[in-house]
Amino acid sequence: MKLGEIRHQPRHLINGRWVSGATTGISVNPSDTREVVAEFARADRNQTELAIAAAADALPQWSLSTPQRRADALDLAGSELLARKEELGELLAREEGKTLPEAIAEVARAGNIFKFFAGEALRIGGETLASVRPGVQVDITREPVGVVAVIAPWNFPFAIPAWKIAPALAYGNTVVFKPAELVPTCGWALAEILSRCGLPAGTFNLIMGSGREVGQTLVEHPRVNAVSFTGSVSTGRRILTATAARQAKVQLEMGGKNPLIVLADADLDQAVDCALQGSYFSTGQRCTASSRLIVEAPVHDAFVARLTQRLTALKVGHALTRGTEMGPVVDGAQLEQNLSYMAIGADEGAQHVFGGERLDRETPGHYMSPALWLAEPGHRIAREEIFGPIACVLRADDYGHALELANDTPFGLCAGLCTTSLKHAMHFRRHAQVGMTMVNLPTAGVDFHVPFGGRKDSSHGSREQGRYAAEFYTTVKTSYMLA
Ligand code: NAD
Repeated sequence: MKLGEIRHQPRHLINGRWVSGATTGISVNPSDTREVVAEFARADRNQTELAIAAAADALPQWSLSTPQRRADALDLAGSELLARKEELGELLAREEGKTLPEAIAEVARAGNIFKFFAGEALRIGGETLASVRPGVQVDITREPVGVVAVIAPWNFPFAIPAWKIAPALAYGNTVVFKPAELVPTCGWALAEILSRCGLPAGTFNLIMGSGREVGQTLVEHPRVNAVSFTGSVSTGRRILTATAARQAKVQLEMGGKNPLIVLADADLDQAVDCALQGSYFSTGQRCTASSRLIVEAPVHDAFVARLTQRLTALKVGHALTRGTEMGPVVDGAQLEQNLSYMAIGADEGAQHVFGGERLDRETPGHYMSPALWLAEPGHRIAREEIFGPIACVLRADDYGHALELANDTPFGLCAGLCTTSLKHAMHFRRHAQVGMTMVNLPTAGVDFHVPFGGRKDSSHGSREQGRYAAEFYTTVKTSYMLA
């Protein structure tokens, strides 16, 4: 791999300037590992502290900027993302491995998120309440939290940073953004757009590097007032411990082991579609992936047979090849982890139905076939988040048993139900112990303007997305006045 073959050289954005790293790293195309996508700057502790200082110094000016100014900047960023969705989608597919249509849709979603929060910047409001004391007025207003550290995972490298950065800026905070190391170019492309949309220097900063050095410094630094994190449960717990000693606001979006219940009265073709999309699209690398398919006994065998038939026909290949339905796994380590779960499934006596093998394609990439198992509720493959294209089917005696199985997990992000029974749909919406429910829809696939998040081990802190984001990115002030 020669330097001349490297497509991009992302650098940090600190205080309005593009800065080289203390060291460098590379990102590689998972569909063709001969291709280096980027040689990117990696920061050490000192550089990270410079980015934090830039954001802290920019805070007074940005926090007092007019809502119109913030709205204009976010609107510009959103327009550019939408206008360049094909080009940036190609970059995303190349660096992360999701299929081109999924990648383009993700960039468009990021654009829409910026547009949404451009509108919200103009809607920041409060309320006036009557006081219990005569002549006293009480006003409740919202103020920015301060410097926000945005720590993002690799699986949605445009949309997840967008739904954190856009509200942070809309409500008058300044930002230090750390993308995941597997997708630095996507983070840099977003930063490059934000560097040209009228934000004062230091308002938005990009810093790339490892979780242990850059991430840890962000989380522990006294000038960082809030941490918005999406990633694994283990990293989330580490962040909670690191921030416990100081007054930082923390929002954690973590893993899932999402159930999709299929009842005997469901439209079976629709249910199979939901399972296929929810379990295997984006190569199963979604926190909302439906990795537990809980199927009522009378339709169990028919459902398994139809889903297997669809999996046999699923086109696995290069993310940029037209017609590919499932791209590669993001990297070699994740592929090995997926394959190790195939061995675990076999060892614990689960019944293998389909797939789960390493695949060769025209280009050397991290390819595997989608996998399906018949499992028991106690099996590790039915309990642990694998984060790959591996789903298992659990047999349920009836709706009550299915709901019990669905809720029997430490996670609580999303749950789905396929049914034609209004009674069961209404009961499920009330009793599924999750942050999001889907009826006759895949668990993966959410709107960009409504609250996103879960319960139990899946989430900590207030919701992301939509108007509910104001809870995290603002702090409430109560002001009394005797006129
Ligand atoms: P990860 O936890 O390994 O990394 C996420 C981010 O945290 C990266 O930027 C990483 O560099 C950083 N990091 C790592 N160690 C850190 C530390 N000690 N301090 C501060 N930052 C640190 O997760 P990942 O592998 O990038 O992403 C996959 C995980 O993300 C899966 O578990 C998936 O379920 C989860 N995820 C959750 C959601 C959600 O909204 N619930 C969405 C997407 C992904």
